[in-house]
Amino acid sequence: MAVASLAAQNTTPSAQKSLFPFNARRYLLGQYRADTSAAFVQLPADVAGGRIIWLRTLAAAALGKMIAAARADGFRLEVLSGTRSFRAQQMIWDAKFTGQRLAEGRNLALELPDEAERTAAILRYSSAPGISRHHWGTDVDLASTSLKWWAGQQGQRALSWLHTHAPDYGFHMVYTSGRLHGYRYEPWHWSYLPLARPMLRNYFAKVVRESDIKGYLGAEHVRRLRWLEYYVEGVNPALK
Ligand SMILES: [Zn+2]
Repeated sequence: MAVASLAAQNTTPSAQKSLFPFNARRYLLGQYRADTSAAFVQLPADVAGGRIIWLRTLAAAALGKMIAAARADGFRLEVLSGTRSFRAQQMIWDAKFTGQRLAEGRNLALELPDEAERTAAILRYSSAPGISRHHWGTDVDLASTSLKWWAGQQGQRALSWLHTHAPDYGFHMVYTSGRLHGYRYEPWHWSYLPLARPMLRNYFAKVVRESDIKGYLGAEHVRRLRWLEYYVEGVNPALK
């Protein structure tokens, strides 16, 4: 599917069903299947660089328009990641916890034998399962997850374009610089606010509870780390 046909896809309310096509708590926790839901669509291969990436239909349509506009201005904004299930996030998380997967080139299991310290270190870079905005189907990682790339010439041009134009398509940067808490600066992570803002408000309304923070290595430490205040709510203030 080309970018233009994605942008033209059905975005009527009936295609969306509702904000939450599943039980809200299970949805926010990423415990559902996007690939069999009418509220989700798989991104075209040329947008996703051949990766299998699902997004909420409304978010995908807006993203398709934004990427087409970027291309017209000479930018290629490939989508690296979109919807992730609890299980997918758990595999990333657990592998970092055991050191099977490096975090920023570091084996945190070797460097930080204290599991509470290790948990806090992983949280600088990765969301824990159950509290990731990638569970919502509204958020994407674009172009590169390397801070070096974004600091370079290509990255700076892309960033400037996004800051100017992305809000016209409903997309906003989530992990801006200068926040006091939460994940580090992530220039690649953008969120489709018309759907994501109500999702965050459901967190404020305590739809996800402390007892839901479980099912992966180190979860007991995440529960003690102000997961809601720092990691879920510690975002760009314009997104609340
Ligand atoms: Zn992301």
